[in-house]
Amino acid sequence: MNGHAVLRKPHATDAPPAYLNAAAAGVPAVALSTTQLAAIRAVMRTFVDDDLARGVALQARMFCHACQQGRAMAGFIPYDRYQLCNWCATEYEVARARGEVQSAGRFVRDKVFGEGPAYALDEE
Ligand SMILES: [Zn+2]
Repeated sequence: MNGHAVLRKPHATDAPPAYLNAAAAGVPAVALSTTQLAAIRAVMRTFVDDDLARGVALQARMFCHACQQGRAMAGFIPYDRYQLCNWCATEYEVARARGEVQSAGRFVRDKVFGEGPAYALDEE
């Protein structure tokens, strides 16, 4: 991160570069209420239920681009060219609602290169 700061040309406004997500740039995140958080999680869980109802096997696995692991195929969500497991997709949607991340690509890169804990949600 410091390398970017050194290489970055000064701007008139010195606004953080667009490639930095809001959290890294120190922009206060949008606080989600407990109800809003629960609603996002509930919606994301419906993708699991829908996949299972459509016949996706409970034990079927797929590779998640964000957490880089084989995860239950039921509930995977495609974002652009990335496939996110249901848990990562939920983290992404919450982070997006909070204004912490603007793209799935950014989220995947953060997860892969060690910034994943910034998006971690509590287990329920
Ligand atoms: Zn994942």
